[in-house]
Amino acid sequence: MPYCRNCGKQVPEDAKFCPYCGAQQVVEIKPSAPSTRPPLGLSIISIYLAIACAIDIAVGILYLLLGLSLTYGASTLRPGLGAWPGLLEWLLTAIPAIGLMSFGLALLNGVAAYGLWSVRHWGWTMAVTLLVAGTIMNIPTSPSPIALIGVVFMAINIVCLVYLSKGDVRKLFQPASSL
Ligand SMILES: [Zn+2]
Repeated sequence: MPYCRNCGKQVPEDAKFCPYCGAQQVVEIKPSAPSTRPPLGLSIISIYLAIACAIDIAVGILYLLLGLSLTYGASTLRPGLGAWPGLLEWLLTAIPAIGLMSFGLALLNGVAAYGLWSVRHWGWTMAVTLLVAGTIMNIPTSPSPIALIGVVFMAINIVCLVYLSKGDVRKLFQPASSL
């Protein structure tokens, strides 16, 4: 227990004033524990990537189900597609391929979301790569409602990239400042 600077009597450790003479005591300012939670912006981008992951999983399941139903319905559909004999075969390859690609993207987005959330240095690199890829993929090629959704995603991705490229955010991910 410390002693009062004025009267010399013992005073409780957290006392702001001496209980005997009333003199103000020197209060040690405890250094605040470093925050273990990522900044709000990083949390938001992590959630955005996690939502992208969930959407990718949903799209993957949808395409695999579509592929499966096409496979089982092939014998019924084939006679009706007489004019385009290659179409069914193409769909039977393309649809499951898109489904698997979607699962792959889900995995990448999920891992990036985790890496960003837990402030791993690879999380930043992965998130930036995915956001750049997502921006390029969403460049509209024709005026349509889907292209408009793409433009919205492009804008969100660019805002995320601008945030992640800020000096103080990048600093968090440098190996030297590992938390
Ligand atoms: Zn005192």
